[in-house]
Amino acid sequence: MNKQELIEIRNDFPILAEKVYNKDLIYFDNAATTQKPRCVVEKIEQSYYHYNANIHRGAHFLSIKATEAHEAARTSVAEFLGATKREEIIFTRGTTEAINLVATSFGEAFCKPGDEIIVSVLEHHSNIVPWQMLCERKGLKLRVISINDRGELDLEVYKTLLNEKTRIVSVAHVSNVLGTINPVKEIIRLAHEKDIPVLIDGAQSVPHIHVNVTELDADFYVFSAHKIYGPTGIGALYGKEKWLNAIPPYQGGGEMIKSVTFEKTTYNELPFKFEAGTPDYIGSTAFAEALRYVQQIGMDKIAAYEHELLSYGTERLMEIEGMRIIGTAREKSSVISFLVGNIHPYDIGMLLDKLGIAVRTGFHCAQPLIDSLGIPGTVRASFAFYNTKEEIDAFITALKRVVGMLS
Ligand code: PLP
Repeated sequence: MNKQELIEIRNDFPILAEKVYNKDLIYFDNAATTQKPRCVVEKIEQSYYHYNANIHRGAHFLSIKATEAHEAARTSVAEFLGATKREEIIFTRGTTEAINLVATSFGEAFCKPGDEIIVSVLEHHSNIVPWQMLCERKGLKLRVISINDRGELDLEVYKTLLNEKTRIVSVAHVSNVLGTINPVKEIIRLAHEKDIPVLIDGAQSVPHIHVNVTELDADFYVFSAHKIYGPTGIGALYGKEKWLNAIPPYQGGGEMIKSVTFEKTTYNELPFKFEAGTPDYIGSTAFAEALRYVQQIGMDKIAAYEHELLSYGTERLMEIEGMRIIGTAREKSSVISFLVGNIHPYDIGMLLDKLGIAVRTGFHCAQPLIDSLGIPGTVRASFAFYNTKEEIDAFITALKRVVGMLS
């Protein structure tokens, strides 16, 4: 990314020019949510102003336009993920709802008491709790892959956990705390050797690295639009057709049915079987616009530039006395969690905020991981392609000042 490209990209994101407490905003909380380019916000406005009507069941012009836009968005998501069939994309409220859908519907169809589900220690709560709830409902056992000192999944442990009782494996592609990029292709291959399906939580991967669900051979792959510069409240579940056809609907209501009588209801075909009620057809078109925006820059270019930011940020952080970086995996995305000496992460975050710098502190919705590391939480700086080395320099200067005050 050259200087001119960066200037143009930053101009696409009006919020980056905001001041907070009279200071230039430095937004390093991209793993929580990303900022939105003008084109995404304008898409929402255009949709409401020019073709807002409920979709699929209307016979009039506006409804047909809105339906076409929503279904074109589904095709965009399918192409973005490298899915071969657009019917394999289900719109959900986000990653969390997509995992709940699979845990509920897959659990209903395929799990019985005594069965096992495998997750890993570095999962976000949304890839733990839905499975735990399933375990409680059906009498299953949750098995957990551990990590090594760098924060990488221990594949030897994983191999010992896979057995004839395992019904599904569900792991993150990228850790939202450690930044570790997990070897999901290998994880899937090992599970498939035993005919076990795998769900990949792509919330932190899809925005940062090229993902192709067909190459990975993932059975389910989920992500949220808001983490990839799209609107809040929408996301996607990719599921192989054979699995989506084999599991029951998640919710009942309009859209997901073929016919309803008081005696019997028959369900709609894919993808509508899993989309009860009026879908977020405004969100879906803005979601597709966000995907178009990042594709125009290029996912490989984004990944390479963010890797530069990661290396530069890591190197500069190491200048600070007492610095401890949590998560040093060999394959890492642009997330840096850290602690300095005995200073509580919250104190660092609070003072950085007063200097205009947005970072996140605490458990990052991954309490089992934080507990297993025996730490009170971390400070997390997470970069996006609109961030710059100059911002990292300003962050380091501010952090040195904050650490000086708190030591
Ligand atoms: N999984 C991971 C790895 C995440 O980082 C997050 C959000 O931070 C989620 C799942 C949940 O995403 P959402 O809140 O958009 O459903």
